[in-house]
Amino acid sequence: MPVPLLDVNAQNHPLTAELTEAFQRVLGHGMFILGQEVTQFEADCCAFLGVKHAIAVSSGTDALLLALMALDIQPGDEVLCPAFTFFATGGCVSRTGAVPVFVDVCADDFNIDLSDAARKVTSRTKAIMPVHLFGQSADMNALTAFAKTHGLSIIEDAAQAFGAHYGERACGTIGEFGAYSFFPSKNLGGLGDSGLLVTNDDKLGDYARILRVHGMAPKYYHHHVGANFRIDALQAAFLSVKLRHFTSYTERRQANAAFYLQQLSGVPGIVLPKALPDRTHIWNQFTLRVLNGRRDALLEHLRAHKIGAEVYYPLSLDQQACFAHLPEHARSACTVSHQLAAEVLSIPIYPELSSSQRQEVADAIIAFGRSGD
Ligand SMILES: *Cc1c(COP(=O)(O)O)cnc(C)c1O
Repeated sequence: MPVPLLDVNAQNHPLTAELTEAFQRVLGHGMFILGQEVTQFEADCCAFLGVKHAIAVSSGTDALLLALMALDIQPGDEVLCPAFTFFATGGCVSRTGAVPVFVDVCADDFNIDLSDAARKVTSRTKAIMPVHLFGQSADMNALTAFAKTHGLSIIEDAAQAFGAHYGERACGTIGEFGAYSFFPSKNLGGLGDSGLLVTNDDKLGDYARILRVHGMAPKYYHHHVGANFRIDALQAAFLSVKLRHFTSYTERRQANAAFYLQQLSGVPGIVLPKALPDRTHIWNQFTLRVLNGRRDALLEHLRAHKIGAEVYYPLSLDQQACFAHLPEHARSACTVSHQLAAEVLSIPIYPELSSSQRQEVADAIIAFGRSGD
């Protein structure tokens, strides 16, 4: 049986009645921009995440950009972000005119390495953007202390970590701002693009809300330049439906991860991802490291067995052509990131994976491991 990397239909089609009801409600009242569906979804998210302000937006990328704009990040400023992440983290910093300074990551959790951040912080550094990559929190106690020492704002890129926790607190609710993505492949996936920005700071929350609508307050009066960062009412209505089922999705991802961790332990040449203590991993991805230069061979092997797998990410941000012009200190010494880009491989972990499918994935990897002895 083929095993896709992700199957959005397996999750969404059983919700057809609920999603159709949401669609018909929005079609009925005709309020397609902001309005009650958006207010309701924002309230649902505040309650679920335990945060004061939630501002639903057009994408995870726009949530990050809006956070940077609300913190008044300017040309000439520097923002620390991990080199090993999805493009949007660094791309948004560039769009403000500031310099993204790429920091190496830790090999055990794929997250920002604060000892490298300490080497790269300067008097121009204004903010730090930890990414809770693959669904597990960065070390937020140490990061918060680091930010305090250097007077930096924290923007958490929680695009892959909706519902993950660091201790008692939800990822995304610890820094000045947290940004989430509801891109269809994320662990809370919409039926299109959308995202969310959260904060516990009343002033920042109010300001971000104004920037979401072109900096307009009151109507047609602009004290600030914002943009159109709005979420569609339809998307908010669909996401409220999916949020009702979210806890069961997370439990099934965690069960799949536990299965792989047990089945694949000791496979030669494979390093399994680690769930660190005091963090709740929500397994947006299950990412292996394949040693001895055999990553691409494992990818081929899985594809030959009709098993979906993907390299997140084949290049780190300091290696991207569009960042080649950045000053040397913004791109230096990301050796762990380079190594991970050559070793990582993500395998199917989505909630609707059947037990025979995940067994097939495990068996194929075990067979590959043996063949390399
Ligand atoms: C998906 C993702 C984003 C961007 O989210 P979009 O909704 O696709 O714009 C940003 N950062 C990380 C780490 C992501 O995985």
